[in-house]
Amino acid sequence: MILPVPLEGTFTYSLPDDIREKVREGTRVLVQFGRGKTYIGVVASIVADAPVGYKIKPILQLLDSAPSVLPLQQQLWTWMADYYLCPIGDVFKTAMPSGLKQEDGYKPRTELFIRLTPQYSDEAVLHQAIDELKRAPRQMSALLCYLRLSHADDGSGEVREVARDELLNASHSTLPVLNSLMKRGILETYNKEVGRLYISGTYNPQNKKVLSPAQATAYQSVLESMKSKSVSLLHGVTSSGKTEIYIHLIQREIDQGRQVLYLLPEIALTVQIMERLKNVFGNRLGIYHSKYSDAERVEIWNKQLSSSPYDVILGARSALFLPFTRLGLVIVDEEHETSFKQQDPAPRYHARSTAIMLASMCGAKTLLGSATPSIDTFHNVRKGKYGYVSLTTRYEGIELPDIRVVDVADLRLRKIMTGPFSPPLIEVMGRALESGRQVMLFQNRRGFAPMVECHDCGWVPRCKNCDVSLTHHKTTNQLTCHYCGYTYMVPSQCPDCHGTNIRPHGFGTEKIEESVRQLFPQAKVARMDLDTTKTRNAYYRLITDFSEGRTDILIGTQMIGKGLDFGNVSVVGILNADSLINYPDFRSSEHAFMMMQQVGGRAGRSGSRGLVILQTTRPSHPLIKQVVANDYEGLYTTIVDERQEFRYPPFYRLVYIYLKHPHEEVVVRASASMAAQLRHWFGDRILGPERPIVARVKTMHIRMLMLKAELGLDMKLVRSYLRLAQRQVVEEIKSPTLQVFFDVDPE
Ligand code: ADP
Ligand code: ZN
Ligand code: ZN
Repeated sequence: MILPVPLEGTFTYSLPDDIREKVREGTRVLVQFGRGKTYIGVVASIVADAPVGYKIKPILQLLDSAPSVLPLQQQLWTWMADYYLCPIGDVFKTAMPSGLKQEDGYKPRTELFIRLTPQYSDEAVLHQAIDELKRAPRQMSALLCYLRLSHADDGSGEVREVARDELLNASHSTLPVLNSLMKRGILETYNKEVGRLYISGTYNPQNKKVLSPAQATAYQSVLESMKSKSVSLLHGVTSSGKTEIYIHLIQREIDQGRQVLYLLPEIALTVQIMERLKNVFGNRLGIYHSKYSDAERVEIWNKQLSSSPYDVILGARSALFLPFTRLGLVIVDEEHETSFKQQDPAPRYHARSTAIMLASMCGAKTLLGSATPSIDTFHNVRKGKYGYVSLTTRYEGIELPDIRVVDVADLRLRKIMTGPFSPPLIEVMGRALESGRQVMLFQNRRGFAPMVECHDCGWVPRCKNCDVSLTHHKTTNQLTCHYCGYTYMVPSQCPDCHGTNIRPHGFGTEKIEESVRQLFPQAKVARMDLDTTKTRNAYYRLITDFSEGRTDILIGTQMIGKGLDFGNVSVVGILNADSLINYPDFRSSEHAFMMMQQVGGRAGRSGSRGLVILQTTRPSHPLIKQVVANDYEGLYTTIVDERQEFRYPPFYRLVYIYLKHPHEEVVVRASASMAAQLRHWFGDRILGPERPIVARVKTMHIRMLMLKAELGLDMKLVRSYLRLAQRQVVEEIKSPTLQVFFDVDPE
């Protein structure tokens, strides 16, 4: 039995006689676990012999008549738990919508409907009733309206179902009027389960665009590559028309009776691609991501188990967990994106690797797509493990954007620039707006977050639960911690020097928005970041407003860099490239290059060549030069040399080991002990313990260790040693609040 609990392994229960015949692998059952708690579990396997030595409890109730989890899904869960070193219960928790794993989770949506009572369904009786209603005109008109909507008396025999609300609206009637008709015994109400999925559109393969010669060649090469390789990379510059190639590939799969999973890194992006796919695949397309309500996700899950599942699923990483019965192709678009890696909570999985595993379990092919492939993927291409297809021209041959570097250090020194905008950027923004074009501005969230600071002594308010400074939100004039969510008021007096000169410092997207409004008061400005996209609708609105020209300037975090396709953007401003370059992480150059290329790639996608203004204090940094020259190969060479020398992926496998405890001395002791044990087995492959950059989060002190394993090492053995060390340290420290967990293949 797989239970949604953070404990290793599966659990055994006995099968009561009355359900013995009906329980199957993958069906959900209700069981007791721990002190009087009941959980929904998934049957992993049915065995003849009970384990000896402890008492096993019976299954309380069987919840499914057919499996909710298919064997292939369980196989994937097991692989994830094993590879990512986490309990399978954690995979289960992430994989299934809550409605399928909580006792009172999913309630089918029902609606009240109206119909004629059986007695009045007879035509003669009905006409007599209508006669009698002459003295109750309001009831009469409601009844006639019902008959019109339902076609109940047009003799066709086909009665359309009418919801009570529909009748109320259409007849301008009231509840008391309907109640009177019910009292007379003419009408009655009934409940009906209705779906939440609003499936619309039809399958229109003829709506596909005709591929350009370059695209057609790439399409054929992909097919050719997929003949011999399980995984292929489509490396096409931004706006080369990769999405159109995917659409052709998807249709080919559908024609051959197979399903396609199309993964995207960002929900914002699914909104845009959805429109393009709907146009071709209509109601054969299902969308699945975390901004959908749980009930909607349950319905999609159940639809995929039914005899008429969606042929194409478009979604963010969680779509991997849906049941597929005849998967033929998995597309991982923007495969280089770090948001494919789940950081917290467990399972800390990479959706790209998991997608490749899912495809191979289903006998399907994987196609990775990117303008800036991840170093890991490109390395696999170089080794000959993945197939490779490249597309070097933009659709319609529009040139890649012109990237101009602006040295802001120099401008600041000469006092030419004070705020976040350099004069060249302001100038090209103004020109773009004058000629009716749009502008995108990119401000990295990881960088300089807006803070408040005491301008007398430099004091900065910090979170009491976490080792970070607080972010200032101007609209609410509050300080929030982005790690634990705690909010504080801005103090009126500095606790250190008692001065009252506490003012904002630095600039985030909110500050940028304010400055833009001052610079261009006529322009319509919108901001897209975590704070403005809390709902599915918010994404949709921001994106459609911008693509339909209701917004002139879109300001955003990395969210705006990911494959969005807007035709009218002529200028992209990267406000602070330094924060990308300086981030202390072995992947920072890779990420910085990709972020800048991708954000820049939003410029000039149709019409004329776009312009990118890249503001930095380090214009001669090699990375900036590679970005300007669009030199991916150069970047790859520099990075792999470094990675090999310093023992990083793709030449070594990394596992980060985290320990957390409310008391610092406990976490220090635990991490030292674990490091000693691991060194005993792994020698100098173990580094640390170290204090991470943020060493305390939500009142928990954190330490980390790092394992660098060369590729030849037997990872099965490595994983079993890691688990053993984890169990040992937990036993030794004997504190229930100690957490020890792993991050395999960290991003
Ligand atoms: P990519 O996914 O490589 O960034 P897209 O597929 O989004 O590129 O294509 C960029 C733009 O060019 C889109 O607006 C798309 O509709 C258009 N486009 C691409 N291929 C074609 C085609 N064969 N016919 C018409 N328009 C196309
Ligand atoms: Zn002060
Ligand atoms: Zn905090």
